[in-house]
Amino acid sequence: MIRDISDRKRTEETLKQSNQQLETRVIQRTSELSQANTQLQLELSDRKRAQFALLQSEELFRNAFTFAVNGLALVGLDRHFLRVNPALCGLLGYTETELLGLTLDEVTDETDRETYRNNLNRLILGEVQSIQTERRYLHKLGYPLWVMGSTSLVRGFQGEPLYFVSQIQDINEHRIAEQVKSDFISIVSHELRTPLASIRGSLGLLAAGALDTNPESSRQMLRIAAIESDRLVRLVNDILSLDRLEARKLPLEKQQCNVADLIQQATRSLQSLAEENNIAITLIPNTIEIWADPDRIVQVLINLLSNAIKFSPPKSPITLKVQNLGGQIIFQIQDRGRGIPANKREAIFGRFQQVDSSDARQKGGTGLGLAICRAIAQQHGGQIWVESIEGEGSTFYFTLPIV
Ligand code: ADP
Repeated sequence: MIRDISDRKRTEETLKQSNQQLETRVIQRTSELSQANTQLQLELSDRKRAQFALLQSEELFRNAFTFAVNGLALVGLDRHFLRVNPALCGLLGYTETELLGLTLDEVTDETDRETYRNNLNRLILGEVQSIQTERRYLHKLGYPLWVMGSTSLVRGFQGEPLYFVSQIQDINEHRIAEQVKSDFISIVSHELRTPLASIRGSLGLLAAGALDTNPESSRQMLRIAAIESDRLVRLVNDILSLDRLEARKLPLEKQQCNVADLIQQATRSLQSLAEENNIAITLIPNTIEIWADPDRIVQVLINLLSNAIKFSPPKSPITLKVQNLGGQIIFQIQDRGRGIPANKREAIFGRFQQVDSSDARQKGGTGLGLAICRAIAQQHGGQIWVESIEGEGSTFYFTLPIV
């Protein structure tokens, strides 16, 4: 039996061809897809890399903000804090949350508020690109703090103002030191001018021959000039030694010394002053050995004893007592003089501080003695203070560690 299968064969051939075409198309599509996939993978990893770089740069800026030594803040146009760094929080005594609830006005001292507000407006108006001013901020506890603030304005694409960027540097100690220095210079120049004016006056009178016919008055003028010259020398010496002591430029020459010997030395040099004032000094010494600069300790004792003599009436007693308190010794210099008012008992240890402004003239002092004593005591690791009852007398205490 012979059957004509030409049709079937043709159909088969057609099917085979279409199968081959399909396979070729599938291979093509697969290759296209695989290419697209590779492209996508590349794009994805590019995006990941960009994201990572962005995160890294953000972290870099965040760290710069967080670890900056100076205060940094972003401040809104309504002067509310938008961002603050730990340095600024530390400087002003607030937590970050507290500070973010405040405005610039609230942390600026009233004295500088108006000027600062005007300066910010000038930035917004474009009159200036940045402002740098020394101003007073207010600490959370209410006291003013000097800062150097530098502020600029960030603008948007259309130039519209967005927020302020402020850097705040703590200059409080520097400003206080400047103030102390200028106060000191004005006091020193005043203190030096007073005896100089007196010397000049006396010598001027003599030079003009106004007292030529009156030798007694001439001698009196010379005496005044000599007394004031001595005072001037004392002043200059005291100022220099206090300055060097406080700057620690006067090194202590510590050695083992016996307290009884130091007391002997101090009282010996005050013998004539005590006799002049008819004052008896009672000593209750102690033969403790200490490690100290003997000259400086004698200087402190002489100053305390001479003050006791100067500010006591004639014939009143003075006692110098030394006790061993275990780790330290304590000197007590007690007088029965005029006493020191309560509000001056700490102040007199400052430079040029005297209970009465006439003390310098009448008693020949400089007002620097106790400041020098305190500097010496502190350099030895000791302390100095006074207890007193007005009209009854004073007791100065001076401690030194026994090493
Ligand atoms: P100075 O004696 O040279 O004026 P000080 O610094 O030694 O300077 O003393 C400062 C001031 O303290 C004195 O001027 C005096 O007003 C007061 N003062 C010091 N010691 C005594 C004392 N023992 N009794 C009363 N006042 C004193």
